Amino acid sequence: MYNPKSKIATEFIDDTEIQETLAYAAENKANFPLIDQILEKAATLKGLNHREAAVLLECEDPAYLEKIYALAREIKEKNYGNRIVMFAPLYLSNYCVNECRYCPYHHHNKHIARKQLTQEEIVREVVALQDMGHKRLALETGEDPVNCPIDYVLESIKTIYGIKHKNGAIRRVNVNIAATTVENYRKLKEAGIGTYILFQETYHKESYEHLHPTGPKSNYAYHTEAHDRAMQGGIDDVGLGVLFGLELYRYEFAGLLMHAEHLEAVFGVGPHTISVPRVCPADDIDPGEFDNGISDDTFAKIVACIRIAVPYTGMIISTRESQKVRERVLHLGVSQISGGSRTSVGGYVEEEKPEDNSAQFDVSDHRTLDEVVRWLMEMDYVPSFCTACYREGRTGDRFMSLCKAGQIQNCCLPNALMTLKEYLEDYASPETRAVGERLITANIPDVTNPKARQVLVERLEKIAQGERDFRF
Ligand code: SF4
Ligand code: SF4
Repeated sequence: MYNPKSKIATEFIDDTEIQETLAYAAENKANFPLIDQILEKAATLKGLNHREAAVLLECEDPAYLEKIYALAREIKEKNYGNRIVMFAPLYLSNYCVNECRYCPYHHHNKHIARKQLTQEEIVREVVALQDMGHKRLALETGEDPVNCPIDYVLESIKTIYGIKHKNGAIRRVNVNIAATTVENYRKLKEAGIGTYILFQETYHKESYEHLHPTGPKSNYAYHTEAHDRAMQGGIDDVGLGVLFGLELYRYEFAGLLMHAEHLEAVFGVGPHTISVPRVCPADDIDPGEFDNGISDDTFAKIVACIRIAVPYTGMIISTRESQKVRERVLHLGVSQISGGSRTSVGGYVEEEKPEDNSAQFDVSDHRTLDEVVRWLMEMDYVPSFCTACYREGRTGDRFMSLCKAGQIQNCCLPNALMTLKEYLEDYASPETRAVGERLITANIPDVTNPKARQVLVERLEKIAQGERDFRF
């Protein structure tokens, strides 16, 4: 029985409710008066429930599709302006006891090198990331209580926050590790993590069990209820995601939104981020084996419909996607992207030997961070290295509060411009710096509050003189 407030996975992700939602969406996909009503509601930035959003996703009428894309762009612009938050993944360990059929780290894959970074190696990786200009990391590990216990992860976080190299600093460490206990989540919170991210992979229980035949991750309920435990452990910011291509995308889309509604219903705050990875090639993995792959057009439609349904949730896209696809979905709702990523353990310091094969997936976007930053700026986006809210203790629904208080232009934008200025001073190539300086000058007038604008100008000057780490 569907109940968003239930703590039981199969009740808040109720299969019957999803099937009925899909049937409702199919029946109403050309019900234009209803679609108009849904679009009107969404335009007020109140978000949509999973049934309403599913109707939009099902709609195929070209004129209405244009309206959906236009609204997604409008919401993106209103809530996020032209800022794009930058981050990089850091792979600590690829030991794993699970047998996920879509991931090369699965336990029985004998032809990849298993590695775990020592604390000294972590320092070297993080120094390399700092030298690129990164301030925000997403830690990634496989699940292995013996080779990669929680204490190792905690020690690694401490190491990372403690590294001070030139003007570099990692100011926010997000963590993407396996589902764990409330007690361990509490420890992660105490270690100062930003967002805890866990992908569901698929919400379809039967497929989930087929795709995860053995290991702790094979327990659908334990995995699906993990975000609840994280929030019980005091982590306010949690990230959701599915791996598109494993199951029917319509099913995953409804499940994802139901999961967001569940968090909102129980904890009063929805997910901080939603990630939208697609299955892609890797050692031992052929995406062709999964017959639910989605086209670039469908992918763009999913991103637009998520943007409309959960207007205050950040959306993340990785270097799994090509430059072309990334460019398309940035306009429709994605607010965070990775740049210059390495998806192998130790990959930032050393190019991996081909025989090691320790990457979790093949990267499609191979550009350096400098190139990604310049590319964004040439499209008039402001790459942001801002971590202010986390460091000011503004967690949970603070982005929504900032939006509602109309403070995006006077808080997020100046923070983005100041962190971009730091990047330009410390790490950018001359060409990128020139583009960036012009962009900053052009964006200053958009800070509407005269006092904030004046403070911003003063701080930009101080950054040019060598001071660092200002924030609103
Ligand atoms: S997806 Fe995660 S849990 Fe599954 S095999 Fe890969 S690293 Fe292990
Ligand atoms: S001020 Fe807060 S909400 Fe705005 S960009 Fe920075 S971290 Fe995000």
